Parts: sequence; structure tokens; C-alpha cells
Amino acid sequence: MKALVLEEYGRFEYKEVARPEIGPKEVLVKVEVCGICGSDVHGMDGSTGRRIPPIIMGHEASGEIVEVGAEVESWSIGNRVTFDSTVYRLDDWYTKRGLYNLSDKREVLGVSPGDFRRHGAFAEFVSIPEHILHTIPDSVTYEQAAMVEPIAVALHALRLAEVDPSQRCVVVGVGMIGVFVLQALRALGVETVYAVDLNSRNRERAMKQGAAEAFDPAEEGLVERIQGMTEGRGVDLAIEAVGIEPTVNLAVDLLRKGGTAVLVGNLAPDVSFPLQKVVTRQLRIQGSCAICGEYPDALELIEKGKIRVDEHIAAVAPLSEGAAWFEKLKNNLVSGKVILKP
Ligand SMILES: [Zn+2]
Repeated sequence: MKALVLEEYGRFEYKEVARPEIGPKEVLVKVEVCGICGSDVHGMDGSTGRRIPPIIMGHEASGEIVEVGAEVESWSIGNRVTFDSTVYRLDDWYTKRGLYNLSDKREVLGVSPGDFRRHGAFAEFVSIPEHILHTIPDSVTYEQAAMVEPIAVALHALRLAEVDPSQRCVVVGVGMIGVFVLQALRALGVETVYAVDLNSRNRERAMKQGAAEAFDPAEEGLVERIQGMTEGRGVDLAIEAVGIEPTVNLAVDLLRKGGTAVLVGNLAPDVSFPLQKVVTRQLRIQGSCAICGEYPDALELIEKGKIRVDEHIAAVAPLSEGAAWFEKLKNNLVSGKVILKP
């Protein structure tokens, strides 16, 4: 089969590789489309250390089952499916407690951080364990289904935040995940969601998706401005979807006393932490990792039109042209999701 292989940092090759073998509880999915995630773009040059070459990346995919393992019972050839980006074990201590995203020895599709290498879906076929598959509703296209993963990431963060519609929220960083956090907050009935992003295109997009206001973080006096819009208190909830020191600190600074910051972004491994502010203002800092069961909800939100995804698709391009699209994304020449089609 053909695959887009990251051969070394910064260099792809579109080439012939062996078709994946499937185990007894796995299925072979013929990939229809696979979206390029920001984490793939940041991974390809080695900056995150989570895409050690050689690796076939790609974890935001959808396709059709073309082969089923001997012990697979609930899936058949021809089923339209998408799948979780996390491959987890069913017999794990965490999985048994409903926390499969934290399970030990979990692997992520299309990721190779050193302790595992799991080839992903920038290929004609991918092997997937049956327990991470999800049916795509008839009215949802393969392209739309490829957007489910980032939506599910957003929903997971909001589940941990215990959102209440009366809360006032800020989303720091409205790239793909951040804009879905914003759309999901609006779908949950939250009226006031502020957006913060350096990029003016992202701010404009946030306004179109229902942000109450979108701010440039470089703006002088931003914290005071948002406090002024919240009776001097600050917001109840901040979702941080970048993961570098200035944005983490901004998310904390924008909170009212007793507020919650959910950290989703994690570009930087370490940031300096405002300990006294967090303690004396009794802030809750909640990390959010990946997805834990939010796929069906995400698919339903797309199916019912409560989260619109089509306008975020920047391009659907042949997988053979993948390297050029990675380059464009790296240089910030495209905004929105680029979807590759084997
Ligand atoms: Zn992703």
C-alpha cells in the first residue's frame, strides 16, 4: 500500500510499504480521509519528540472496514467508521475505572515518542482494535468524521471543567482545538465566551463561531479589560489551548477568585507556575488529556448541526501531496483543517 512516511525530521516520502497485519480483535480500515493535526505539524520537525522517524502519522481519520479479525463480533466489512486516537488496553487499572485516556501502556495512533511506535492513518490502510471504533452516522460525511477527534478533545476538556451555562468563559488560543472548545461551549448554552489569539484570522473565525469578543493578547491592559467586562472579577472558566508560558499565565490571570483553568495545550514541557496566585485566589488548575469516551457525543453534535465543521476544512488534498501541505501548515499559510485522501 502507499503511505506518507516521515523518514527523518522534516522529510516525508510517499512510498510503498507493507499493508498492516490485523490481530484477531482488530479490523483493517481502508482510510477514506485523514486530517493533519497541529501535533503532527509540531511533531514532524522533532520539536515535541513525539514523532520519532520513521513513522506514518495521522490519527484523525475515517474509513471503511475491509477486513475483520477472527474474534471480531460487532463489526463487519463495509461499516463506515472513525476511531479513537488512543489505543488502550481493556484490562488496565485505569480503563476499568473509566479513565482509559490515562491507562498504562496506552498508545496513540501515528505517534512514536520512544517507548512505542504505532503507525497511523496517512496510508491506504490502518489496523484498528475493534474496541476503539465508532460508527459514522449516515448523514455525516467521511470528511466531517475526520474532524471528530479534535471536537472530542474539546468536549473532554469541558466535561472536566463541569461547565454551567451561566458561566463566563475565555478560550486562550482559538486554533482548531480552541475553536471547537468555543463552539462546544456555545452548543452547551454558554452565552459569554471570550477568545484570545495572536492570529487575526483565528480571531475573526472565533467571532463567526459565536465569541462574545476576540482579543489580541498583545493588547495592552487585556486582563483589566476582561475584568471590566465581568464586574471586576474575571472569568469563571479559562480553557488554555496553546501550552506555552505566556498563554498559561494569561489564562490564570483572567480567572476570578475560585475560578477554574483547564489546560489542554502542552507545547512546552515546562512553564513557570504562578504558585501564590493559584493558592491565594483558590484557583482550580485541571489538566485535560486527549479523549475519554466523547466520540459518540462529538458525532452527534456534528450530525445534529450543533457544531459546524465544514467551514473549518481548508482543503481536501491527495495523500501524495501531503508533504507540501505539511510545509504550508508549518509556515502558517493555511488556516483550518487540511484533510488528506489516500
Ligand atoms: Zn489531533
